[in-house]
Amino acid sequence: MDCIFCKIIDGSIPSKKVYEDDKMLAFHDVNPQAPVHVIMIPKEHIPSADAVTEENSAYIAHIFSKVPEIAKSLGLENGYRIVNNCKADAGQTVFHLHFHLLGGKPLGLEMA
Ligand code: 5GP
Ligand code: ZN
Repeated sequence: MDCIFCKIIDGSIPSKKVYEDDKMLAFHDVNPQAPVHVIMIPKEHIPSADAVTEENSAYIAHIFSKVPEIAKSLGLENGYRIVNNCKADAGQTVFHLHFHLLGGKPLGLEMA
């Protein structure tokens, strides 16, 4: 499948990994919008938030269950923002569901 994030999962595109287990991967964004900018993805090709179902929602719950641990490992004790861009009007560019984890400075009203 021609998906950048599936290729990051299978290792054919390298990434700076922050956290990995059997259901998810977190890695540094290649074009950071904040001092800390990590992408969290399920190890299942779900195209966007608009494709979440009862059956695949456990992947999303799992990602959020690991957020405190990942944030702590990144030194985000002062807080952080989690962003999802869903489809064209939100500017989604990679069509494999992902959550941006942003922080490391006081954040304004823009994404980062
Ligand atoms: P979107 O705009 O779809 O919400 O976010 C996609 C994000 O993926 C962007 O912030 C972009 O910088 C990041 N990205 C795209 N290609 C790669 C890549 O090959 N490696 C990494 N680490 N990040 C990528
Ligand atoms: Zn994918």
